[in-house]
Amino acid sequence: MSDWEEAEGGRLAEGAVWYATQGWKILPCYGIVGGKCTCNEPHSEPKDMGKHPKLPKWNTDASSDPDQVRIWWEEDPNANIGVYCKGSGFLVIDVDPRSGGPAAFEKFEELIDGALPPTVEAITGSYNINGNLVRGRHLYYKCDPDEQLLGNLNKAGLKGIDIKHNGYVLVNPSRHFSGECYQWVPGKAPYEIEMAEAPEELLNALRKRSRKSAVGEGDWTSIFDGVEFSDLGFINHPLIVVFFADAS
Ligand SMILES: [Zn+2]
Repeated sequence: MSDWEEAEGGRLAEGAVWYATQGWKILPCYGIVGGKCTCNEPHSEPKDMGKHPKLPKWNTDASSDPDQVRIWWEEDPNANIGVYCKGSGFLVIDVDPRSGGPAAFEKFEELIDGALPPTVEAITGSYNINGNLVRGRHLYYKCDPDEQLLGNLNKAGLKGIDIKHNGYVLVNPSRHFSGECYQWVPGKAPYEIEMAEAPEELLNALRKRSRKSAVGEGDWTSIFDGVEFSDLGFINHPLIVVFFADAS
């Protein structure tokens, strides 16, 4: 239903400044105008359009100063709005329907012993999956900036789930190459619901772990490392997910 018009009329600037007032670290990204990325470079992957930062050192230069943010959007009113997750005090679970994210996310919630609490949530671009239009999801959870978290759950066989912490996400009303705008789920915008703290079960599943015995220090792994859910059974413990080979 939505289209890029949602981002017309100075709404990107307005949004960016509001997020900055919430203490979120904002970084301007190239926008999408007339179906093209405003960087004017060709993109072999359409998904990269309107999604890359305009600042060379975006993670150090991202700002929650409303005046700085206002200047950036005066310079480029069509810039998409990026938010540096870690710097803003949260992580984002990015569920991508193109690679089986929704089913993997359901499985992941079972693994961490139950549904994640309601929190700030957005829908992203729309994709045609077997004839159905499906939107991606972003779920926001408060999280300490010092946490060392995995970037995805691929090694656990859970494809299509990315964890954005030491990274950024785009927020409403930024334009997505699919023709949609990033949108807050009704009732779950940051001005409608308080962002939930990341539950310990979630953090525990996402934390990188040092594998001191086998390999040297500095080689990070996780409890999921090397585990393929397809050929292993699993049981849940309140805090630790324990894996065991299916004996049957
Ligand atoms: Zn571009």
